[in-house]
This record gives sequence, structure tokens and C-alpha cells, in this order.
Amino acid sequence: MFELSVKSKIASAHFLRGYAGMCKDLHGHTWSVEVVVMNDRLDTIGMVTDFIVLKKQLTDFLAGIDHVCLNDLAYFQEHNPTTENIARYICRNFAPVVSPLKIKRVQVWESETSSVVYYE
Ligand SMILES: [Zn+2]
Repeated sequence: MFELSVKSKIASAHFLRGYAGMCKDLHGHTWSVEVVVMNDRLDTIGMVTDFIVLKKQLTDFLAGIDHVCLNDLAYFQEHNPTTENIARYICRNFAPVVSPLKIKRVQVWESETSSVVYYE
């Protein structure tokens, strides 16, 4: 089995409903995002997929949640825009983009020392 990962970032705003700490008020983060895909076979030239293609797919996908207030998006009106829910959103919605490759996990860092891993 091969695993490939690409990283990118989004800089967006959010606030957390039902949370008593500082994140209850509107503020921004630069979230780092790593997506790991896996496949058990290689193409005819020995690649799982082209890093350039995968990176562009991720960048294009993340453009939809970059420089926005996440709370304005329908998904995050239903699900609090925590780092956990952001990771799940990316995993579920980016999966069709990379299909037939499978996403093994999505890791989202809210800061250099705090991250969430989501996988299905
Ligand atoms: Zn926050």
C-alpha cells in the first residue's frame, strides 16, 4: 500500500457556538491541512498520482473555504466550525475529487502544536 500526502493552508474566520472561551467571538486562523491518499497500485510510470495534480486539486477545493467566514457556509451552520468539523468537511467533500484514490486521513492544524486527524 502506498500513501501520498499533500499540504496546504486556509486563512479564514470562524466563531464557535456554545463555547465559553475566546473562540466564541469572531476571529481568524491559518489552518494547515494535510490530506493523505492511498492506493495499492502504481500507474504505468510508477506513481500513485501526480503530486502536481493532487496539490492543484486540494488548492482548488480549499479555495471554497479560504478567506471566508466559515460560519456563513451551510455546512458550518449545521456543524460548529471546530477544527474537528473542518477536518471532517474536507475529508468527505474532497473524497469525490480524488476518487478513485481513497483518502486515508485528513489532518488539520489549528496552530503549530494543535491538530485534529479525521478518517472514515
Ligand atoms: Zn478559533
